[in-house]
Amino acid sequence: MTPRKILIAGAGLGGLAAASCLMKAGHDVEIYEQAPALGEVGAGIQISANAMHVLRHLGIGGEIERVGVRPAAYVFRLHDTGEVIQQFSLSEEHEQQHGAPYVQLHRADLHELLAARAREFKPQVVHLNRKAVGFSEDADGVTLRFADGSAAQGDILIGADGLKSVIGRQILGETRATYTGDAAWRVTVPVERLPRDFLDQVMNVFMGPGGHVVCYYVRGGAILNFVGLVETEEVSEESWTVKFPWDQLKADYAGWHPTIQTVIDAADRDQCYRWSLHNRAPRRNWSTRRVTILGDAAHATLPYLAQGAAMAIEDGAVLARALGRTDAVHEALDLYQRNRVDRTARIVEQSTQNRKLFHLRSKEEIRQAFARRDEGAERNKWLYSYNPMTVELT
Ligand SMILES: Cc1cc2nc3c(=O)[nH]c(=O)nc-3n(C[C@H](O)[C@H](O)[C@H](O)COP(=O)(O)OP(=O)(O)OC[C@H]3O[C@@H](n4cnc5c(N)ncnc54)[C@H](O)[C@@H]3O)c2cc1C
Repeated sequence: MTPRKILIAGAGLGGLAAASCLMKAGHDVEIYEQAPALGEVGAGIQISANAMHVLRHLGIGGEIERVGVRPAAYVFRLHDTGEVIQQFSLSEEHEQQHGAPYVQLHRADLHELLAARAREFKPQVVHLNRKAVGFSEDADGVTLRFADGSAAQGDILIGADGLKSVIGRQILGETRATYTGDAAWRVTVPVERLPRDFLDQVMNVFMGPGGHVVCYYVRGGAILNFVGLVETEEVSEESWTVKFPWDQLKADYAGWHPTIQTVIDAADRDQCYRWSLHNRAPRRNWSTRRVTILGDAAHATLPYLAQGAAMAIEDGAVLARALGRTDAVHEALDLYQRNRVDRTARIVEQSTQNRKLFHLRSKEEIRQAFARRDEGAERNKWLYSYNPMTVELT
């Protein structure tokens, strides 16, 4: 393997994980992040075995389990009575079946662990305040240009710059984003504000007409994470930082189960955020001869399978392996893309399908849909059983 100088635009979960995979494989990496400081928002994130394999490969699996929560099960309930419609195990069974655990974390904890790991490989690997605006490439290398007029040179460039990727736009052209009709509320509540043991340490999904709610614990059980999906015609920004009035959150879930009311009542009134969810059709042409993309930049997804970050983490591992297989950069980028497009497109499509499953209009429709479908068996078959460290690259 020829060690390469690799530039990464974006220090999100995907960019940081890729950087460590590549440095561990012997490459020299520089990450350029537009923000003035590294960080993540106060929300939860679920990491299943398929991504945990990579985090264990990077040596941070133990730390992740320490700061996270291992939920006992995935539990689908009706929105008002709380009746359990279906459940599947996520605890020992998930690990036995797939060789790594399912962990629920605070996003900031995961981001911090990934950044610390990358800095162990190379202390000055992250460059802040560097907004990428475009690139050029030739036979000798690639140049990444920044908004402040500066530039950086390398052998390979990876766009890990998220949903509105500048690098992706230059490779693919504009990707059309269509509003799904859903917004995602985000609230976190410290457990001391909640009744003792009022909700089991499981992944709860409450499904109702026009919406669903996902609730799980993070930070060793100290914080309850609430994500509320609602159908709405009010389109706003795709952003983790846009606040909406608490009263509107309360109204959106009027009549829902007392558990939901307790969480909403315990939330800080000025700390309710809402993200407008948009769909982007999967694309298959991610690379030029020296440049490629990963994570949301390549395959933005709806959150209905909780796999956006997991896919971003898988991408970095497969890319590092592909670069180890051939010394021709464009062949390695082709190999990476070829081995990622089908899986990521399937996840994006299945996530879109799950929106329908979670928002059926009546209890009878929900019961019938789940009677026909074993969600756990389906996911175990192809989603969680993928191991990016060992999957054959063809
Ligand atoms: C409500 C909701 C719940 C979710 N839950 C889960 C879950 O449970 N599990 C899961 O796996 N996924 C989940 N996801 C998806 C997950 O959040 C994303 O897929 C993941 O964060 C993508 O990571 P990324 O590194 O590709 O992009 P990002 O996290 O968006 O990071 C991109 C980085 O690039 C930087 N950047 C952007 N433009 C530039 C530029 N021009 N120059 C330099 N830097 C730039 C940004 O500042 C940022 O730091 C959820 C998403 C939503 C909306």
